[in-house]
Amino acid sequence: MSIIVSKFGGSSLADGNQFRKVKDILLSDNRRKFVIPSAPGKRNSKDFKITDLLYLCQAHIESSIPLDDVFNLISNRYKAIVYELDLSLDIDIYLNEIKKDIENGASKEYAASRGEYLNGIILANYLDFKFIDAKDVIIFNKYGSLDNEATYKALKNTLSNYEKAVIPGFYGCDPLGNIVTFSRGGSDITGALVAASMNADLYENWTDVSGFLMADPKIVENPMQIKKITYRELRELSYMGASVLHEDSVFPVRNAGIPINIKNTNLPSDPGTLIVKDMEPDYNNPIKGIAGKKDFTVISIEKAMMNSELGFCRKVLSILEQNCVSFENMPSGIDTVCVVISDSQLNNKIDILVDEIKRACNPDSIVVHPNMALIATVGNGMSSNKGIATKIFSSLSDSNINIRMIDQGSSEINILIGIENDDFEKGINSIYKAFI
Ligand code: ASP
Repeated sequence: MSIIVSKFGGSSLADGNQFRKVKDILLSDNRRKFVIPSAPGKRNSKDFKITDLLYLCQAHIESSIPLDDVFNLISNRYKAIVYELDLSLDIDIYLNEIKKDIENGASKEYAASRGEYLNGIILANYLDFKFIDAKDVIIFNKYGSLDNEATYKALKNTLSNYEKAVIPGFYGCDPLGNIVTFSRGGSDITGALVAASMNADLYENWTDVSGFLMADPKIVENPMQIKKITYRELRELSYMGASVLHEDSVFPVRNAGIPINIKNTNLPSDPGTLIVKDMEPDYNNPIKGIAGKKDFTVISIEKAMMNSELGFCRKVLSILEQNCVSFENMPSGIDTVCVVISDSQLNNKIDILVDEIKRACNPDSIVVHPNMALIATVGNGMSSNKGIATKIFSSLSDSNINIRMIDQGSSEINILIGIENDDFEKGINSIYKAFI
């Protein structure tokens, strides 16, 4: 019997009406056996996320301020959900206990985790599925990192006893019994771990958009949806800023070869985006997506015969390392090498880096280009396909955009270009229009 693991994000469980949609989705396919809920998200743009309110409650207590007003916002949200679903569940018992724990100094991670915990209890009650507390199956080590082996063992041992179950996302427990959370958005990781441990056929990730779009809709008007994409392509796009999924959630399912389907709770008939291990390149539609980020600095170093000077790049990289600066890219030519660094990494260290590189490497010239943006054009149909780079470069030149840097990853599924920050939006639109 095949198994589908379904994770629902905060907007999919923000109120009673959303819970109803989730139930319809789950009951419409009997293979949907294991469900991972997030905490209730925003119902509209002015609303609060429950997780944020829980962090706030704990911060109140830490600063010796009463939490009643904030906690009431949380209680009211859960009580309204229970009321709207007409459940006989006594949610007050749980709410009172959590309030008392936070007042008595429970940790920040414990407080934050209660959003998923309560949503899990309500959802399990509503669906008549078994509730499994994530503290018993998502195991962290004493250093706060996930213990993969123990987690898989606990998940397999526990879940195989139940036909259908709800496991709250985002948290687990360390060997001392302390609640530990993943980083924000971490319910995606719980879902991936459940899917991998149960050897599921599919990991569904339900949210409020129909999967990935080929470009950021805030930049390109009505970009096309990506129907199918490989894990590798997705990683390239996510790294450059396109995000729907928590980055760490990809690895457990990717290693197990389980596809992920990003689906829209508000439009369940839409096929969404399917993320798979491998797929045949589509040479007629070679581009899967275009993503990018602003605010990089490029240090461009030139020295005649650099390519024959042993250890030149190593010296440059050790200077970065000694100053705790990581770099994004390092395209090089015969006599030149560029180091691309995100401004968030630089922290005003540019003068120190330049001085140290001058001293250690004695270059003919070293030039700093600030305010750079990077744009990645990604697709596995690019490899062995002629004319893709030409199309990207002509589209930018037709839009009067100067290209400062070009880098094609060795996998040939990504062409990265560096342009001025000011040209970023125009650049993404030009490339998009060249292919679509
Ligand atoms: N509720 C947590 C957050 O807001 C985790 C999640 O939704 O995945 O980050």
